[in-house]
Amino acid sequence: MAVDRDTTLAWMTSFAASMEEHREELVQLDTAIGDGDHGTNMNRGMQKAVAQLAAAEQADTGAVLKTVAMALISTVGGAAGPLYGTLFLQLGTVLAGLQEVDLPSYAAAWRRALEGVQARGKAQAQDKTMVDALIPAVAALEAATDLEDGIRAAAEAAHQGALATTPLVARKGRASYLGERSAGHQDPGATSTYYLFKSAAETFAH
Ligand code: ADP
Ligand code: MG
Repeated sequence: MAVDRDTTLAWMTSFAASMEEHREELVQLDTAIGDGDHGTNMNRGMQKAVAQLAAAEQADTGAVLKTVAMALISTVGGAAGPLYGTLFLQLGTVLAGLQEVDLPSYAAAWRRALEGVQARGKAQAQDKTMVDALIPAVAALEAATDLEDGIRAAAEAAHQGALATTPLVARKGRASYLGERSAGHQDPGATSTYYLFKSAAETFAH
């Protein structure tokens, strides 16, 4: 198992399939506290990403991730497109030129991705956004001593982070317009971020 171009391609293909599989669930979560488009946004963006990845060969892990970033930025409107675009762009920038990625580089890339998402969206912990899944996932990667174990721990941490958004009152994004009424619903973006790490754990585990 290694994080390299081919496993990163497999991860992105897996995440695209996951967004298709969970499209309706993400739509329902976003219907409760937003405008109901998160599942269709993410599915459309990742279908486009997979098509772009198939259209040309990427030299390394960083190039794969930058291609995904551009596809999301160009096809997904709203909040999540630019935020996920930033996430993949930062990952791709830190990992640029590496043929094989070790745990310190991978954790450093994810730290930069989190910082990029926060710089762009200004969300802090507990604002009920994708950041609430990212923060514990990145911490789990940084605490790990083995890459594969770290990615598995990150997926579990992202899951807990997404579940923990349910009681929160949204302070960022569309859901914040609902004020107290946003409490009692799991955040759609934190949920798709959990699926991103789940796809990674499934891909990099074998
Ligand atoms: P929109 O809200 O424009 O309809 P989506 O429905 O695709 O976009 O995405 C909504 C998700 O985006 C939210 O569930 C939340 O996780 C995330 N989000 C919204 N605003 C921010 C922000 N400022 N920072 C981080 N994440 C955000
Ligand atoms: Mg929405």
